[in-house]
Amino acid sequence: MNITRSILLKMSQNQWLKDHVPRWKFTRRAVRRFMPGETVEDALDAAAVFEREGIPAVFTRLGENSTQLEEAEEVREHYLDTAGKIAGRGLSTEISVKLTHLGLDLSVDAPFQYCKEIAAKANKLSGNDFFIDMEGSAYVQRTIDLYLRLKRELDNVGLCIQASLHRTEKDLDDLFEVDGSLRLVKGAYKEPPDVAIQSKRKVDEHCFVLSQKMLRRTKQHGTRMIYATHDDKLIGRIIEEAKKIKLPNDQVEFQMLYGIKTGLQSQLVRDGYKVRVLIAYGESWYPWYMRRLAERPANVLFVLRNAVFRG
Ligand SMILES: Cc1cc2nc3c(=O)[nH]c(=O)nc-3n(C[C@H](O)[C@H](O)[C@H](O)COP(=O)(O)OP(=O)(O)OC[C@H]3O[C@@H](n4cnc5c(N)ncnc54)[C@H](O)[C@@H]3O)c2cc1C
Repeated sequence: MNITRSILLKMSQNQWLKDHVPRWKFTRRAVRRFMPGETVEDALDAAAVFEREGIPAVFTRLGENSTQLEEAEEVREHYLDTAGKIAGRGLSTEISVKLTHLGLDLSVDAPFQYCKEIAAKANKLSGNDFFIDMEGSAYVQRTIDLYLRLKRELDNVGLCIQASLHRTEKDLDDLFEVDGSLRLVKGAYKEPPDVAIQSKRKVDEHCFVLSQKMLRRTKQHGTRMIYATHDDKLIGRIIEEAKKIKLPNDQVEFQMLYGIKTGLQSQLVRDGYKVRVLIAYGESWYPWYMRRLAERPANVLFVLRNAVFRG
C-alpha cells in the first residue's frame, strides 16, 4: 500500500485528530469540495439539482461507531425523518447507512430493527431502495448476516461489497442466492494482508473480475448491480464487457461521490447509463474525509492550498 495512503488511513482513526481537525477553518472549507453542506437540507437542495440533470442521489449521514444506544436511536430518528423529507420533495434519493452508526458495536437486534423501519418507510413513501454500506473487515460477516435477515422481510434492501477483500468472490456467489441489489466498491479501509489484497493493481483487476460476474447476473436475472467507482479505465472495461454480453446501457449503473469526476458522471448519463451521486452530509465528517484524501493523496495539496492561501 502506498505510504501516504497508509498514513492518511491511520490518521482517520486517531481520536485527537477526530476531535480537533473539524474545528479548523481551513479543513472545514476544504471538505466542502466533497459535501454540499453539513445539514440534510443542504443535501436535499443538492440532490434536487442533480436529479433534474438525470442523476438521482444516495444520501449518507456521516458518522460511525456509535458508543451508546441513544446515539444510534437518534441516527434512526434522523433517517426516518429524512425518508419523509425525500418523499416530500418527490426525490428518488436512496438512503445508505453504516451499521455501526446504527449501533452494531452495541447490539445486533437494534440496527436490524432500525434498518427495517427506515427501509420500510422509504419503500412505502417513495418506493426507493435502501442500502447498507460495508465497513472495516471486522464488521463484514455481521453486516452480511444482518442484510440476509433483512432480505427475508423486505425486498428493497441492497448491500455494498468490497473488491479488496479476499473473501468477496465467495460472498458474491452466496449473495447471488438471495437475488438482492449489490454495490461493488474497491474498499476504503486499511486491512492486513491476510484479509485484503494489498496491491492496488490487483484490487483493480479483482474489481473487474467481480464486475464481470455482476454484469452476467443482471443479464440473466435483471438484478440491479452497481459499480461505484471513479476509475475511468475500470468503467471503460465494464462498459466494453456489458456491450460484449449485449446488456442494454440502461441496465448498467455507476455511482460516484459528490464533487468527483462530475464531467464523467454527465457523459455516462448522456450515453444512456444509469448514474447516481452519493451525497454525504453531517458534522462527523473527519474519518470519512480522511478516507477520501487517502484515495487520492493529491487532494492533500488542495487542503494545504486552502490553509496557506486563504488562512
Ligand atoms: C457511491 C459510493 C459508495 C461507496 N461506499 C463504500 C462502502 O460502503 N464501503 C467502502 O469501503 N467504500 C465505499 N466507497 C469508497 C470506495 O471503496 C473507494 O475507496 C473509492 O470509490 C475510490 O476508489 P475508486 O474505485 O474510485 O478507484 P481509485 O483507483 O481509488 O480512483 C480512480 C480515480 O478516481 C479519482 N478519485 C478517486 N477517489 C478520489 C477522491 N477521493 N478525490 C478525488 N479524486 C478521486 C482519481 O482520479 C483516481 O485516480 C464508496 C464509493 C462510492 C463512489
